[in-house]
Amino acid sequence: MSYQTINPASNKLVKTWTDHNDQQVEQALKTADDLYHSSWSKGDIQPRLQVLKKMADLIDARVEELAKTASVEMGKLINQSRGEVQLCAQIARYYAENAERFLAPTRYPSELGEAWVENHPIGVLVAVEPWNFPFYQLMRVLAPNLAAGNPVLAKHAANVPHCATLFEELVTEAGAPKGAWTNLFISNDQVASLIADDRVQGAALTGSERAGSAVAQQAGKYLKKTTLELGGNDVFVVLDDCDLDKAVKAGVGARLSNCGQVCTAAKRFIVHEKVADAFFEKFTQAFRDVKIGDPLDESTTLGPLSSSTARDTLVKQVEQAVSKGAKLHIGGKVVAGEGCFYEPTILSGITRDNPAYFEEFFGPVAQVYVVKDDEEVVKLANDSHYGLGGAVFSKDIARARKLASRIETGMVYINSASDTSAELPFGGVKRSGYGRELSDLGIKEFVNQKLVVVS
Ligand code: NDP
Repeated sequence: MSYQTINPASNKLVKTWTDHNDQQVEQALKTADDLYHSSWSKGDIQPRLQVLKKMADLIDARVEELAKTASVEMGKLINQSRGEVQLCAQIARYYAENAERFLAPTRYPSELGEAWVENHPIGVLVAVEPWNFPFYQLMRVLAPNLAAGNPVLAKHAANVPHCATLFEELVTEAGAPKGAWTNLFISNDQVASLIADDRVQGAALTGSERAGSAVAQQAGKYLKKTTLELGGNDVFVVLDDCDLDKAVKAGVGARLSNCGQVCTAAKRFIVHEKVADAFFEKFTQAFRDVKIGDPLDESTTLGPLSSSTARDTLVKQVEQAVSKGAKLHIGGKVVAGEGCFYEPTILSGITRDNPAYFEEFFGPVAQVYVVKDDEEVVKLANDSHYGLGGAVFSKDIARARKLASRIETGMVYINSASDTSAELPFGGVKRSGYGRELSDLGIKEFVNQKLVVVS
């Protein structure tokens, strides 16, 4: 029994869920594959778009219930859970309104004749998803692929089975036929067997490098396409000419939102030496003002980490960073009591030989680096295995734009923290993965872009 709801605010077991056996997995795959070969997937797009529209309405009507489920299951502050749920409705609505246009044939002027590219579904996909945004991560895969006609078998993280179940129920209630989205409580070995099956045509994964590498290896062996959205070690650049109060406020949110468990969270703060003292003072004060507590209490500003394992990993990382010479400005301790709470923490003085320099800290721990000029910003920002997002704060937009184009990541925001929205592509480079989710780019990842030429 690996799928369990454990409330991280109390560390108490709420419910154990029943795994799916191989026979059930085979039945789910057969149903999904049959659906792919039916007029549902291959025919008129409108019925599929109607499901997305209905799903958006259903989500809007159930925000409180869904948000509370996420908060109890993985510790997200209730207000942030509401935001996540509302974003899911927006994504469903966005594809309902735009997918037909994205999938329309594109003409290609050619000497060989009248030519165009059509977009067709490719078949059953496997989605492997993490717990940090237990609804949004699923919607990023469902909405474009439901519109495109690809049935999805979803393996959610083992610690968010209630969210996984509710999401599947919503898809069904919205009118999707059986097999369009199937939640499976399965092991990594069962995921590997699914990817190997001829009826599966691709896999989308969001999660750790370890999981991404395992799924991509298996998919590569069987020549299946993958998209990977993995970790990040995003920079948050504070230049000497920026609005410092605005930068600090955004930086605190960017590091502590979702208790720091966001792939695009600001993890490395790169601060110009001219504003470093003032930054440290304001940033540390803001961390001191944080109210740690129950994620369901509206006044709480920092909830628990998602699990005791997540907290223990962070404890080890911070201890190691300090033992190798990092300076601890604030925090660095587990909060006494039952839940998986950890103090908001600021580290500086991290040298390149300190393992922390290259590690992603998936929790409320900020690393601060002080630099003397823009060249040093670029050098430090790009000295990372990751390349997901980043932020640059400056009043000189031309200067910020120059830096943004030199930072090796899939996304950069100027004068705001990294964010996400249905119409903007999301994804990274280097060990942060490949492929894009959301926007018009996301819906093109798993379609057959078929060329037709009439001579
Ligand atoms: P994992 O990568 O282990 O979990 C993400 C998903 O992948 C889960 O559904 C997990 O299943 C599944 N998974 C793990 N290994 C395999 C495998 N070999 N084959 C198939 N599926 C697999 O993340 P963790 O929860 O362990 O978090 C660890 C780190 O991952 C974090 O500290 C962070 O660095 C990164 N991470 C990044 C996220 C992002 O948004 N990019 C989100 C979450 C984590 P199961 O739960 O059953 O193990």
